[in-house]
Amino acid sequence: MAIFEELAKGDPAVAAYISIHNMVVWMIDSYGDDAQRAVVAAADGDAGVRRLLPLTEPGVGSDAANVATSAVRDGDDYVLTGVKQFISGAGEAAVYVVMARTGEPGARGISAFLVPGDAEALSFGAPEKKMGWHAQPTRQVIFDGVRVPASAMLGDEGRGFAIAMSALNGGRLNIAACSLGGAQWALDRAVQYVHERMAFGEPLAEKQSILFAIADMRTDLHAARLMVRDGAQAVDEKAPDATMRCAMAKRFATDAGFDVANRALQLHGGYGYLQDYGIEKVVRDLRVHQILEGTNEIMRLIVGREMLRPAGSASMRSAS
Ligand SMILES: Cc1cc2nc3c(=O)[nH]c(=O)nc-3n(C[C@H](O)[C@H](O)[C@H](O)COP(=O)(O)OP(=O)(O)OC[C@H]3O[C@@H](n4cnc5c(N)ncnc54)[C@H](O)[C@@H]3O)c2cc1C
Repeated sequence: MAIFEELAKGDPAVAAYISIHNMVVWMIDSYGDDAQRAVVAAADGDAGVRRLLPLTEPGVGSDAANVATSAVRDGDDYVLTGVKQFISGAGEAAVYVVMARTGEPGARGISAFLVPGDAEALSFGAPEKKMGWHAQPTRQVIFDGVRVPASAMLGDEGRGFAIAMSALNGGRLNIAACSLGGAQWALDRAVQYVHERMAFGEPLAEKQSILFAIADMRTDLHAARLMVRDGAQAVDEKAPDATMRCAMAKRFATDAGFDVANRALQLHGGYGYLQDYGIEKVVRDLRVHQILEGTNEIMRLIVGREMLRPAGSASMRSAS
């Protein structure tokens, strides 16, 4: 988490890309068997290999338990058919961990499969034209009867959704950490700029409203950082409320990160809007952190449901 914050000071989009790879490697390491880990590790010989997570579909986003992509058993194989939408790094990955339906409707009918990037009948849509995150491609992943051996199933049948949700706790914290890093970089630039920029005969830094703005930005980022660390502690301790604390941290830190970067742009005046200063890129990159790994509305849903569930009932598993 601390590493992702530092990486994001260099480039939030690159750091976030690595964080998705990191999350998927964690899934394979945690739920894969020795043979699966060995096959995936063997791909490390290639420079730049990545492991990615196609979960979202054209008709299924926040309600991820409704995944429609099917995996049908055929002898010793499964045959995957369907389309995944908005997949980060699609077309560049060595391995995809694909969520596909093997059984009943809902979360318990979803299983996870390791699909190699060069599988037959696997293809990719055109690169999406995005507001930010230009350092990584986002494309559809199309399964037109992709055949994988039954041994490619990650974990047990019907456990795919639970595996994805457990990985998303860490994934959300790392995306949040990327927001912190990008926003901290923008704040540091703003502090420097208000010392240099003259207005009405004195540096901007001399004006109390500017000082207040900087103080609020620093305070908001500090609060966000503490929440992200609290989420990480909950994951480390396997706390029963870890999902809720990670959701709170993701919502708070990605909102604060975008807001701080946007205020840093404002403090730069017209120059903040120019590409030369780099702030507008950070604003564009951080915007999507409020949308992916579960939108910030879904984070509120997780927290609210956990708060309002009847005493003694099992903790909920979240939507993506
Ligand atoms: C650049 C980019 C990269 C991405 N990378 C990946 C990836 O690698 N893998 C992957 O699987 N997905 C990826 N996604 C998809 C992302 O996770 C989804 O876009 C996100 O989960 C939201 O789904 P949706 O776009 O279908 O929006 P919808 O689910 O249709 O939501 C639309 C709006 O309605 C709100 N909403 C939905 N349900 C509720 C509710 N119950 N209560 C209140 N509000 C609600 C949402 O918060 C949102 O504001 C990526 C998206 C982008 C933009």
